[in-house]
Amino acid sequence: MTMSLLACIETAAGLPPGTLTRADVETVAQEGDIDWVVVRLPDGRWAATDDAEVAVDRVAIFGTRVEALDFRWVGWRAVHRDDPPTARTGWRAEPPAHLRNTREWEVTITFRCGHTEPERIQAVSEAMAQTIAAERAHGLCSRCLAARQAAMDAWAEQNAAGMRRLAPWLEEPPHDGRAKP
Ligand SMILES: [Zn+2]
Repeated sequence: MTMSLLACIETAAGLPPGTLTRADVETVAQEGDIDWVVVRLPDGRWAATDDAEVAVDRVAIFGTRVEALDFRWVGWRAVHRDDPPTARTGWRAEPPAHLRNTREWEVTITFRCGHTEPERIQAVSEAMAQTIAAERAHGLCSRCLAARQAAMDAWAEQNAAGMRRLAPWLEEPPHDGRAKP
């Protein structure tokens, strides 16, 4: 939680600099060094963001705390649904009780790479589903993600092959005193 994040939220919400203090910030989840926060604004609105990357377009503004919390909760579940909580990573706030009322919305996401994909999003309202979709749009579509992963794997394999040529002894298994079969 940095002061520059507060300044970023002030800009996103159209508030004068210095309006917000740390006391307005509620950390709802923690992802290692990254805080996921909801922030009470003086006019009754709430902001939701995190400090992974401080950018005005990553601040979402809501009318109520529940909406801001829902937004973070749904985002959290999308990424960490199956992760057991640890000392450094976990949802910290009380999960919103009424989320039993979520339903599935069909939305089309236009990703940063320009491709579109249909997606089913669990949310309390269609407006919330669209807000979540807009957040996802900052990423890459599944094909571009896979292509990037493949390129990274190929690069790593090329590196490993080069290393085997240059320093084959690095590939030797640790010597345990027994003869090789
Ligand atoms: Zn793509």
